[in-house]
Amino acid sequence: MNVWLLRDGEGFTLIDTGMADARTRGLWERIFKDQLGGMPITRLICTHHHPDHMGLSTWLHARFGVRMTATVGEWTYGRLGWLESGEDFLSQASDHYIRFGLRDEPLRLAIAEGNNYRRYVDPIPLDFLRIEGGDRLSVGGREWHVMTFSGHSPEHACLWCPEADVLISGDQVLPKISPTIGVWSNEPEANPLAGFFASLDHLMTLSDSALVLPSHGLPFTGLRQRCKALKAHHDERLKHTLDSCSNPSSGADVMEELFPRMLSGHDLLFAVAETLSHLNYLVAEGCIECSIGKQNIKYKTK
Ligand SMILES: [Zn+2]
Repeated sequence: MNVWLLRDGEGFTLIDTGMADARTRGLWERIFKDQLGGMPITRLICTHHHPDHMGLSTWLHARFGVRMTATVGEWTYGRLGWLESGEDFLSQASDHYIRFGLRDEPLRLAIAEGNNYRRYVDPIPLDFLRIEGGDRLSVGGREWHVMTFSGHSPEHACLWCPEADVLISGDQVLPKISPTIGVWSNEPEANPLAGFFASLDHLMTLSDSALVLPSHGLPFTGLRQRCKALKAHHDERLKHTLDSCSNPSSGADVMEELFPRMLSGHDLLFAVAETLSHLNYLVAEGCIECSIGKQNIKYKTK
């Protein structure tokens, strides 16, 4: 997990926080002592609400008095994710997995995960500073453009500095792995893959010489090529998904084709979410139809 510190006058602007666990707090203590030269963090920007990006926002606020800056979509999702813990959440998630076609042990594992967001975050702050796509931020005398995208999360912020030819990409574009593009139980008919493809189209219009600073893996150049490779990866997964629906199949049947390994609870939730994002994309494109059966939803190539 990478976080980025940008020198900003007599302090630093920090991009993302790391997860709320003892190890990350310990690493931060060392960085505060050894790396910041006694200067404070004067602004905190979170690219999106996932625990490794927003998990320590309250802790950093208490430490430096910096109110978290984020898009309203990400703050809202983070705050809701933190608050969801009741029986209604579990019963709704359980219905979602049953409609998907999970049964027996996989269903038990998925439900047992509960709301795992809460495990890795401090309470998400009650207040925040809003940024929106199109905003310009001045950091260290340079102008950074805020761009917002969906796909990986509802309103993910990337920061683009044309003068420095640097893109802070968060999880929207990663060098080695593909960011999770998932459909979750709160929005079962969402089509995040369409949003992700639109974001790749947009990012491909930026300077190809840009140095990309991702949240996972090493900085890289060749943004256009990486966007094309991510698109090709999903195209291939879409084809595999389509082939899996030649006979009426539940989401769980398709998942077994796409993710043939036995999955632990955490990986299982991500496999369900990724399978559904590909199914919902193909439904929206008119390539497959879905019908609601007695026990679960069935998908079939048109
Ligand atoms: Zn993420």
